[in-house]
Amino acid sequence: MRLPDGPSVALPEELSYLREGDVVRVVPYAGEFNVLYRRASPHNSMLLTERCNSFCVMCSQPPKEANDGFLADVWLQAIPLMAPETRELGLSGGEPALLGDRFIELLRACKSHLPSTALHVLSNGRLFNYLSLAKQVANVACADLMIGIPLYSDLPAGHDFVVQARGAFEQTLRGIMNLKRCGVKVELRVVLHKETIDRLPRLARFISRNLAFVDHVALMGLELMGFARGNLEALWVDPADYQAQLRAAVEELVRGRLQVSIYNHPLCVLDRSLWAYARKSISDWKNEYLPSCVACTEREQCGGLFASATLRRSAHIAPIFRGASG
Ligand code: SF4
Repeated sequence: MRLPDGPSVALPEELSYLREGDVVRVVPYAGEFNVLYRRASPHNSMLLTERCNSFCVMCSQPPKEANDGFLADVWLQAIPLMAPETRELGLSGGEPALLGDRFIELLRACKSHLPSTALHVLSNGRLFNYLSLAKQVANVACADLMIGIPLYSDLPAGHDFVVQARGAFEQTLRGIMNLKRCGVKVELRVVLHKETIDRLPRLARFISRNLAFVDHVALMGLELMGFARGNLEALWVDPADYQAQLRAAVEELVRGRLQVSIYNHPLCVLDRSLWAYARKSISDWKNEYLPSCVACTEREQCGGLFASATLRRSAHIAPIFRGASG
């Protein structure tokens, strides 16, 4: 690899996947080398900050009180190096909205250098409780921007418990409404685990009756990273055991004419009536299949498992043979 205005550097074998057009960050004095962007990957995401104003019980990227303002500078340098034909780019944290004006600056940079790229921001939505911030986002006028916001219960106490922040339910709902009022697309995200699964059908009804204006609802399997590992026993439910609740929720949302997707679930643990909603959602670098998947006729359509599922996985993963009843 040739550094800009500098010497060529030999890369170790484990970085042999790098290709022309990829973006890396090299900090020689600290011995740091980070891959920021892979041109051929559909799963590029920018971690804007590790700080967060929530503390979700299953957070896969536990918040840190770090002074990480430099990350915005890193991404502001990286964005102009990304290919304009990049289909989708994630902006995540931590809570990206905590960056305030710098968050807006990053959106502007994306709009300017990647005008046709779909931008997907992961936010807890609470800071859009301030209408002024929602207006600032709308004013950037990105061509294709969606903000993904988690909602975990139809009851304030249920949502607040999962995100470990009192008053979060109300702030989140106001945030969602402010964004939609300003014309910004919103996706609701529900992670499925012991604390969310029992009321899932009632949450779906709440959404279809009160938030039918959102653009997408994603029902998501649990990733066993970060706090989800430490809280494994308190959170884990075999997905095969919550199919009734999942089916009822999807039916309710579809009846309410909402766009609904199921993320992070192998097809073999999903009720067949739900396959049409399943998406291959796991980023390529953390996606795995089991040796037994080789025999499965649905391998191409199936999104597989998180690599972290070695810790715990459904007891019902087994190859499907097309045509077999199930
Ligand atoms: S056996 Fe493997 S490929 Fe087949 S549905 Fe299950 S996880 Fe997917």
